Amino acid sequence: MSESWGRLQPRITELSDLSSALRLLGWDQHVMMPVAGGPARASTVATLQAIAHSRLSSPELGELLADAEADNSLGEDERASVNLLSRDHEKATRVPEALVRELAEVEALSFQAWTQARPANDFSILEPHLSRVVALKKEAADAIGWEDERYDALLDDYEPGMATRTVEALFDKLVPSLRPVTETILGAAGERPLFLTRTYEVDKQESFCVWLIQMMGFDLSEGRFDVSPHPFTIHIGGGDVRQTTRYEPKALMMSIRGSMHETGHALYEQGVPKEMVGLPIGDIRSLGLHESQSRIWEIQVGMGRAFVEFMLPHLKDRFPEELGRLSPDEFYRGVNHPRRSLIRIQADEVTYNLHIALRLELELALFRDELSVAELPEAFEAAMEKHLGIRPDDHADGVLQDMHWAVGGFGYFPTYTLGTLYAAALFERARSDLGDLEQDLRNGDTSPLLAWLRDKIHIHGGRRSGTELAEQAIGAPLGVEAFLDHLKKKYAEIYDVSF
Ligand code: MG
Repeated sequence: MSESWGRLQPRITELSDLSSALRLLGWDQHVMMPVAGGPARASTVATLQAIAHSRLSSPELGELLADAEADNSLGEDERASVNLLSRDHEKATRVPEALVRELAEVEALSFQAWTQARPANDFSILEPHLSRVVALKKEAADAIGWEDERYDALLDDYEPGMATRTVEALFDKLVPSLRPVTETILGAAGERPLFLTRTYEVDKQESFCVWLIQMMGFDLSEGRFDVSPHPFTIHIGGGDVRQTTRYEPKALMMSIRGSMHETGHALYEQGVPKEMVGLPIGDIRSLGLHESQSRIWEIQVGMGRAFVEFMLPHLKDRFPEELGRLSPDEFYRGVNHPRRSLIRIQADEVTYNLHIALRLELELALFRDELSVAELPEAFEAAMEKHLGIRPDDHADGVLQDMHWAVGGFGYFPTYTLGTLYAAALFERARSDLGDLEQDLRNGDTSPLLAWLRDKIHIHGGRRSGTELAEQAIGAPLGVEAFLDHLKKKYAEIYDVSF
């Protein structure tokens, strides 16, 4: 080991440990903590974030990093870690500690306000908090600096290195093609199949999902699977990857899709080589690539014909009354039944990205100073009508439906669509590389696909940017065609329509 790396390593461990503690507090807040604990937790999190920020931005760390950068004896992975950490250090030095602390506090309180505003259907409960969050995010983005526009700095937290203009160009290509495709599919979809809204005992749903996620390769000896109102996955530290799902008696497919989605994220985290965990190269920074892993399992596998046919007999074992007479074809068509929904997280794969397009538009307008927080509810309703042809008649189903903005997650939404685009292209590539993937999935054997994803994506951890890694695996630059082709091919077959 080189001397400069030896001196840097304890600092890296300290930063990683602080980050683990913050992640665990975050997991606890969403899974276990009583609501009344919110204000105290906000203070604890803000203190720890301020400590982490001061460690990350310290001049001493800057000197250790400069020594390491000048050290020619560093190995390739060590150099990659140094480069990533240098970038974080430089970003952190640009944001004053007082602003970091204030943002953490304001975001935590804003999240609490959102948990009250949504059930009360009252945007005014959230509005003052959200206005503060947006003002502080603008201040932070301007302090960090940006090339073309302020939103670049926000996007960089979730998709490092990707410019706003790149994202906007992808949406500008996707949306005009997606809207007519969506209208054709929705027009052909017909009545909602009854089995989708029958009642399914939650205990049996849970036993199915626990079986399913292990079958997909999630290792429960190095992870947890719990319930939270908003499913998520978090890598606490070595040997500890946690995912959550949720169950509702009348929404069987929601728990299955949600569990497969989060398992996609969790398999990615469990696939990062052990020796990288705790180092900067062990952090997966591209949320777009992360989302691609969840969308591959949720959509490409979980709602594809082969795997749906595999799942059905196992579901019939648990729900003979509810599903006993359903044919594999009826089940496949049913789980893929699209509809115009107000709620993003209930949206099908056809309409989902239009929900994202409208959010991106609003975020860009907010950070280009073309829209104020007070105008947001009305703008949200209008954008929903424009993209999806429906208008929410209250705030709970409109601007208040997601928590992202309340917690300052501006720049996050577009990564969902990046994930969808990567997922379609990656799955297509895996299919051509693996040859008999459909047959494997029909037999419930997901291991060849997982091995392919491990090899192409997971084992590289956070060494390279999401775009770089995905484009290498796909063998082409990221575009919108693979996803549009997937939709057209699949739904042309289901509904006998042409595009
Ligand atoms: Mg996800």
